Amino acid sequence: MTISHPCSKHYDSIEAAVKAAQNAFPGWSAKTPQERSKIMSKLADLIEESLESFAEAESKDQGKTITFARMVDVPRAVYNFRFFSSSILHQTTECTQMDHMGCMHYTERTPVGIAGLISPWNLPLYLLTWKIAPAVACGNTVIAKPSEMTSVTAWMMCKLLNKAGFPPGVVNIVLGSGLKAGDALVSHPEVSLISFTGSTLTGQHIIERSAPYCKKLSLELGGKNPAIIFEDANLDECISATVRSSFANQGEICLCTSRIFVQRSIYKDFLRRFVEAVKKWKIGDPSDPTVDLGALISKEHLAKVKNYIKKAESEGAKILYGEGIDSLALPPRNQNGYFMLPTVIAEIADDSCCMQDEIFGPITCITEFGTEEEVIRRANGVKYGLAATVWSSDVGRVHRVAKRLKSGLVWTNCWLIRDLNLPFGGMKASGIGREGAKDSYEFFTEVKTITIKHT
Ligand code: NAD
Repeated sequence: MTISHPCSKHYDSIEAAVKAAQNAFPGWSAKTPQERSKIMSKLADLIEESLESFAEAESKDQGKTITFARMVDVPRAVYNFRFFSSSILHQTTECTQMDHMGCMHYTERTPVGIAGLISPWNLPLYLLTWKIAPAVACGNTVIAKPSEMTSVTAWMMCKLLNKAGFPPGVVNIVLGSGLKAGDALVSHPEVSLISFTGSTLTGQHIIERSAPYCKKLSLELGGKNPAIIFEDANLDECISATVRSSFANQGEICLCTSRIFVQRSIYKDFLRRFVEAVKKWKIGDPSDPTVDLGALISKEHLAKVKNYIKKAESEGAKILYGEGIDSLALPPRNQNGYFMLPTVIAEIADDSCCMQDEIFGPITCITEFGTEEEVIRRANGVKYGLAATVWSSDVGRVHRVAKRLKSGLVWTNCWLIRDLNLPFGGMKASGIGREGAKDSYEFFTEVKTITIKHT
C-alpha cells in the first residue's frame, strides 16, 4: 500500500527540514555518545552565557514574569542539555544467559531516525529543549516546531547551534502554525516518531494523523490537578506552596493545582489564610522583578479563562477573590495587556466545568471533604491524571493516598521538585508514555534483541 502524503506539497519548510535531517543523520548517528555529549554541553554553556537576553525575550513573548523566566525557564533549558549530555554516557543495555540452551541474549539500541518534536507556548524553550536534548543525545536528527505563539527563544537558540558544533541539519527548527507545519510534520512518512506536548485535543488529533504510519508517540497532555490537604498538614508550608502551585506562571503550567480539597475541620481556617496569601501576590508589568503574576498568553485565552468565572457564578459558586479585574491599577504601558487577578472559587460542585475542564489560567477551586476514602474518589473523578499533591504529616497516609491516586506524578508536602532521572508523564487523558533519563532513552531509540548460540 502506498500512503499518500497530502501535506508535503503544501508545506515546503517541513520538506526542506526532512531533507536536511536525512542528510545529517548518517554522520550524527555515527558519532560516539561522548562526541555528541561535548557538543550538547557547549550549547548549554552558550545559552547560559546569554541567560539574561533569553529570559527577557521569553518574558516579552509569553507574558510570564522576568523572575520566572530567569529562575525557571532558561536555567531549565540549560539543564536539559547538561543533563542529557551526561545521562547518555551512562545508559546500558540488557544481557541474559540461557545456559541450558547454550546461548545468550542481548539488546542493542539504535537511534530511530528523524524525530518530530512539537511544543506548547507556556514554557517555550524549557519544553522544546526537554525534547531536543534527549533526541539528539540518542543520535537522532530532529525537526522541532515550537508554538507559533512563542517562537522567539527557539529562533535565538538556532543562532547558537553552529557555534556549539552541531553539524547542519541535526537540529532543524520550523516555525509555523499547528494546522500547517505541525500537521505536515506529524503526517510526514519520513518522520519516525513524534514527541508532543500540548492539549489533549491536539494529542488526539496527532494519534489519528500519525496512525497510518504506526509512528512512535510520546504525548504529554493536559491536566486538572488536585491538591489534597489533610487536617494534620503543616498549613504554613502548605498554603504558601499551594498558592504557588495554583498561580505560578499565571496558572499556565500543566502541573498547576486547580482543585483544592481541604479536610472539613480546617476548611474555614484554610480558606481565610489562603485568600490572605493570594491577595499578597503582585500583578503587573512582567519585566518588574517584584511582580508575581504576569500577563496571560493572548486576548482569546484571557476571555476563555474569564468566562469560566462567569460560569461558576451562574452555578451559584462563590468567588472569594478575583473580582475587580477591570479596575487593576496597572502601569500605563500594560493597560491593554491580558491581565487578571488570581481567582479563588469556593462552594462549587465536583461536576461543574470549572472542576472538570483544564482552564490553564489563574483560577483555583476550593472544596471541603470528610474522609480519606471520599477524597481519593473525588480527586480521581476527572478525565485527566497528570499531577497531584498530598499534604499530611502522617507518613502512612501519604503513602496510602499517593498509591491510589490515578496520576502520573504525586508530590507530597511539596510541589514541582523534579529529578529528571525519573519518569514524567500522565495517565488517562493526560498522555501516553513517559519521558525522563531512562524513558527518553527508550523512546528515542529502537531496541533489537539479539540471540547468540555459543555451544
Ligand atoms: P496546543 O495543543 O494548542 O498546541 C501545542 C503545539 O501543537 C503547538 O506547537 C501547536 O502549534 C501544535 N499543534 C496544534 N495543532 C496541531 C496539529 N493539528 N498537528 C500538529 N501540531 C499541532 O496546546 P497549547 O495551547 O500550545 O498549550 C497548552 C496545553 O499544553 C495545555 O493543555 C497544557 O496542559 C499542555 N501542556 C502539557 C504539558 C505536559 O507535560 N503534560 C506541559 C505543558 C503544557
